[in-house]
Amino acid sequence: ELGTAAVRRAPDASPLVTSADLPPARNFVGGEFVDARFDSVTGVIDPCSEKVLAQIPESTAEDVDRAVAAAVAAKDQWARVAPKDRSELLHAIADRVAENAELLVRLESANTGKPLPVAQDDIAGTIDTFRFMAGALRATTSMAAGDYVENHLSVIRREPVGVVGVVTPWNYPLMMAAWKIAPILAAGNTLVIKPSEQTPLTTLKFAELVADLLPPGVLNVVTGLGPVVGARLSEHPDIDMVALTGSVSSGRAVARSAADTLKRVHLELGGKAPVVIFPDADLEAAASTLRVAGYWNSGQECGAACRVLVHESVAEKFVERLTAEVGALVVGEPGAGEDVEVGPLVSKAHFDRVTGYLERAEDEGARVAVGGGVLAGPGYFVAPTVLVDVAEGAEILREEVFGPVVTVETFSDEDEAVRRANAGPYGLSASVWTEDARRSHDVSARLDAGTVWVNSHLVLANDVPWGGFKGSGYGRDLSIYALDDYSRTKHVMHNHGR
Ligand code: NAD
Repeated sequence: ELGTAAVRRAPDASPLVTSADLPPARNFVGGEFVDARFDSVTGVIDPCSEKVLAQIPESTAEDVDRAVAAAVAAKDQWARVAPKDRSELLHAIADRVAENAELLVRLESANTGKPLPVAQDDIAGTIDTFRFMAGALRATTSMAAGDYVENHLSVIRREPVGVVGVVTPWNYPLMMAAWKIAPILAAGNTLVIKPSEQTPLTTLKFAELVADLLPPGVLNVVTGLGPVVGARLSEHPDIDMVALTGSVSSGRAVARSAADTLKRVHLELGGKAPVVIFPDADLEAAASTLRVAGYWNSGQECGAACRVLVHESVAEKFVERLTAEVGALVVGEPGAGEDVEVGPLVSKAHFDRVTGYLERAEDEGARVAVGGGVLAGPGYFVAPTVLVDVAEGAEILREEVFGPVVTVETFSDEDEAVRRANAGPYGLSASVWTEDARRSHDVSARLDAGTVWVNSHLVLANDVPWGGFKGSGYGRDLSIYALDDYSRTKHVMHNHGR
């Protein structure tokens, strides 16, 4: 029977992490771990057992100011480091992460509940982000030069922006941090980063691991809550740019508080990726791709393949294949084996949010094809779900669920498919499934999304950009485009005539 997945549990005797694996529960400022000004703490929860893993400081604006002062003090010297030396340093960071990959994987899995292969993918991605930026910075610091006006030599200097404030989410804690830290350092900036209060462990561990590699003050970590620490980073007069990966509402808050100082803003926000399946598509490939791309990281993925638009002539066949794939997903704790594909949701609050969406979707007439409910605790497990017969305009089609839930709608022609795929506030990513070259080019050009996959979904590489259109934000992570985002351009013109 479909949809009866039980949670596979890890043997009790083998906890993923011990207290010796945990990072210092302190801020990292000016090259050392320091206490926050006050004693308030946030409990960091293991979402499988619901137990507290660590207590992390709830820092204040004053703690942020101290870290910003350290980043300001370090910035001129760091900006003058030769590209070759900065590149070597980023390679050394990549090496350090690689040497400690196994520990970082366990920490990330313990804090998020994500299956070990997902955490392994995160850490491998983290290492490659540093390696890519280490190479890219040497290829891009060269300055274009020429006489564009008679007797005037133009030199185009690529300079760091200065001090960058960074705020990261809980879904890929270390990888999202790396997507910011690597290009920020590569471009010659210093930074203060605030990890999600729910998942700060790997970012603090990272700081501990690389502490001896970086000059003091270049990288600073301040833990705490968004409306306090994140807000102070966004408004701080000595911060030149702020970068957030998070929800649309946090993005708005950051952009608003950044406005007074006119600092640069870089926002990677939510997504609601449409998956447009035409009648000539390879349905089997689409269904097996969605088994991964719809449910990776429990669907807590901004590019998740969560909204299928399938041509009415093949809808029944496709739903049959998809429900078979989704019904076979292995749900469990990360310690329960390498074949576990789906873990819990990150927190009780998020679990309530996702199950609320499911209940209201059913109230609005959606039918559960597979999954649909919660799984026995402890832990915040929701069954991998496919919803069909979803009415156009239903809440579940408009809002980002960020859970293991895929909806299926049908369409009758290409224009309708494009119109419905582009409806809604998001524009992060989308996929098109067809064997017709004309159609794949035309539809991918018409989709309002920063990334469009053709006959694929959720495949990323450090060499190519990632980022949104519309409500999904602006600015690009990864690739040379991220390096540009964290750089500023100066034109110096020399009159060499007599
Ligand atoms: P969130 O917005 O609740 O939190 C993200 C971070 O912002 C946290 O560190 C939080 O403390 C901080 N924050 C909250 N309020 C703030 C404020 N007023 N000022 C400054 N910072 C504030 O998001 P989340 O729940 O951690 O992550 C899930 C969201 O992130 C989803 O919407 C998802 O789509 C998005 N996301 C996007 C990408 C991408 O690349 N586009 C990647 C991962 C996640």
